Amino acid sequence: MIVLKTERELAVMEENAHILRDILVELSFRAQAGVTTGELERLAERRIREAGAKSAFKGYTDELHRRPFPSVLCASVNEEVVHGIPSDERVLREGDVLSLDLGFVRKGFYADAAITVGIGEVSEEAERMMAVARDALKRAVGFATIGRRLSDISHAIESTVREAGYYVVKEYTGHGIGRELHEDPRVLNFGPPGKGPVLRAGLVICIEPMVKGDDEPLVVRDDGWTAVTRSGSIAVHYEEMVAVTPEGPRVLTGWIWEEFCRRRTLSACEVR
Ligand code: MG
Repeated sequence: MIVLKTERELAVMEENAHILRDILVELSFRAQAGVTTGELERLAERRIREAGAKSAFKGYTDELHRRPFPSVLCASVNEEVVHGIPSDERVLREGDVLSLDLGFVRKGFYADAAITVGIGEVSEEAERMMAVARDALKRAVGFATIGRRLSDISHAIESTVREAGYYVVKEYTGHGIGRELHEDPRVLNFGPPGKGPVLRAGLVICIEPMVKGDDEPLVVRDDGWTAVTRSGSIAVHYEEMVAVTPEGPRVLTGWIWEEFCRRRTLSACEVR
């Protein structure tokens, strides 16, 4: 069942989404060579607490994952696609590709978003894959308008990624979000256009392309959570919360990557 949100509920969700964006941007800055993903976990935990929020991920289980997720943050490095478990043993190195996925509940509403960043200089291939995933997300958001069909979004993601020579992850999907972390509808990252429910004002969805270099099923490690590519290809993941409104798509999280770049430029200016 799809639950549409009122303008007042959207305002709360947007407030939450901005808090989440700011935490993800801060984590992205903190993620440098020599830093462990365990340190990022502790920073994320502190920021969630300071916001008066509660983690959406820590202790989470579902029918696929019977072991509770042990952390507030998913930190997935290189061939890890999603659900990487932060650890003091995992030291980030120059050239790594790091995906950060974070979620919390505050004032009765969930927020959930993700960003992928390079650690220092990364390969041209990694830069390109990240750019393609961001482009897929941007194009998909453009279809989050009243009267479109849900799978127009899915198709925009898959076609953008495939035209660039990459593949989408099929095992995990985007989703509705609100008083639950995962609400209807599921937002696939693939499929033909023109299918599924007609989009209406008040729908809020997480659109989250996950992109990789092979077309094989993912493998889940023995920890029960960390999903990795079968070939060892790197993978990238971006996720924004998007509301369908009469004025068009409203990105509640406010484009996390752009915010990261904006602040990076500002801090570069400040150094000079
Ligand atoms: Mg999500």
